Amino acid sequence: MAEPHSRMIIAVDGPSGSGKSSVCRAAAAQLGADYLDTGAMYRAAAWYCLDQQVDLDDETAVAVAVEELPLHISTDPEHQTITVGQADVTSAIREPRISEVVSQVATNRPARSLLIDAQRRIIDDSGFIVAEGRDITTVVAPDAQVRVLLTASAEARLRRRGLQLSVESGAEQDEAALKRQVLERDRKDSAASNFTEAADGVAVLDSSELTFEETVDSLIGRVEALQEAA
Ligand code: C5P
Repeated sequence: MAEPHSRMIIAVDGPSGSGKSSVCRAAAAQLGADYLDTGAMYRAAAWYCLDQQVDLDDETAVAVAVEELPLHISTDPEHQTITVGQADVTSAIREPRISEVVSQVATNRPARSLLIDAQRRIIDDSGFIVAEGRDITTVVAPDAQVRVLLTASAEARLRRRGLQLSVESGAEQDEAALKRQVLERDRKDSAASNFTEAADGVAVLDSSELTFEETVDSLIGRVEALQEAA
């Protein structure tokens, strides 16, 4: 856990493939802050529902499963591990079979509200954390000191997610499957949260033309500017 004197919440939202996970993890590591990947929590919930053979169309059954979800997520940016009960699901939650169903869990209102409560507890317990997702700047931590919407063009997002999946799976990605995972998922997710337009007080960081390091530096710069002003 971070030092109490450095209490600061850095909230970052963005669509799929905007690079927010890798950018936020790197920024947190450089700042010495904790890191929370809220998307991983929704993914772990979806993994658990599939594991327990819960019908994803059954709203009550999904909410019950999320209520009993034995989830543990690390907040160390250098060592991300996610477990559900005894199962280490860190890699399994990235599989396309999870990406294809996760929106069904994320748009389930009771499940969503349980996960939001859990996210707020993790953020409060830390006090110095980069938390990223779709609704962190607006719902989970609207009073965060730094609030950023990380965007990128659809073209850049498809390219990045395709590269990431190729590295993870060692195979070229099918273009239609990739579009389903990125653009179609955004369309479904937008029913639950607005992550395409910045809310009042949220700064837009467009990474389409920036390198990875430039994007990380820009986020860190916002944090350091506030730390210096304090
Ligand atoms: O960020 P990532 O792509 O891993 O997120 C997985 C899914 O979790 C999203 O497609 C969305 O359905 C859900 N999510 C959400 N709210 C968040 C973070 C993620 O609904 N704050």
